[in-house]
Formats: sequence, C-alpha cells, structure tokens
Amino acid sequence: MTTQRTLAIIKPDAVDKGVVGQIIARVERAGFKILAAKLIQMSLADARGFYAVHRERPFFQSLCDFMTQGPCLPLVLEGENAIQRWRDLMGATDPAKAAAGTIRKDFASSIEANAVHGSDSAEAAAVEIPYFFSSLELCPR
Ligand code: GDP
Repeated sequence: MTTQRTLAIIKPDAVDKGVVGQIIARVERAGFKILAAKLIQMSLADARGFYAVHRERPFFQSLCDFMTQGPCLPLVLEGENAIQRWRDLMGATDPAKAAAGTIRKDFASSIEANAVHGSDSAEAAAVEIPYFFSSLELCPR
C-alpha cells in the first residue's frame, strides 16, 4: 500500500444539481484527506487543455462544452491507494453500467454528464493536480 494523491473534480452537472455536499460527504466517509478544493469556472481553453488526451475522440468538443457550462469543483485527495479507491467510489464512466452505491450510479445523468472525474494513473495525477493547484494551495497534514 502506498499513500497517493489524486485529482478529483465534481463536474458542472453535479454542482448544478446541488449534490456537492453529498459527494464530499462520501469522500470524507471513505477516509480521504482533502488537501485542496476550489470552485472554478473553466474556459474552453482550460477544458481543452485538461482533456487534451481525448482530443481525437468524437465526443471531445461536446465534453469540453459540458465542462464549461457552469462551475466545477476540483479537489486533491490523499490516501492509501487513493487513485484506484477514488475511481472505485466514482463507478463506471457510463452511469448505466456503474455499480450500486457508486457516485456515478447515484448522481450522474449520462455518460458525459457523469458527476465526477478522477485521475486514472499516478502519471495522470502528477499532471492533473498542478493543472489546477499550485504547491502553495495544497494543505498536507
Ligand atoms: P473516466 O476516466 O471514467 O472519466 O472516462 P474517460 O477518461 O474515458 O472519459 C473522460 C470523460 O469523457 C468521461 O468522464 C465523460 O465525461 C466523457 N465521455 C467518456 N466517454 C464518452 C462518450 O462515449 N460520449 C460522451 N459524450 N462523453 C464521454
């Protein structure tokens, strides 16, 4: 077991639905430490940069439009095996395929508007955390 950090985002659909508090409660109940969090409104350039790995996918433009439709809440989570544990808590990308009790099963609207993001590897987390947060904004403890 290793202590890891991961980048989570509560996406605009979940902010708009008013379920930020319920999602953060699940984060805390699962034992993650929240090292940073902030409500932001991404520009199209911000979203295109963040999702650059998906730029060849047919849904890229639609995904970037969705991510900029309203504020979202990026967070840095820390814990044992945090990257996989947060993805387990999120559930499958498509809420129709997500397991019972996962965040996407309970709060996502569609495969695109699926409530939350989570880094999918240590390499991705190392790029995604500084995309939103400077080291001064992290509160390790
Ligand atoms: P994740 O790691 O589970 O978030 O999934 P991916 O990295 O494959 O995709 C990134 C994000 O793109 C997802 O969270 C969705 O918001 C969106 N997405 C993924 N697949 C599709 C799709 O088939 N159609 C659309 N419209 N959006 C998708």
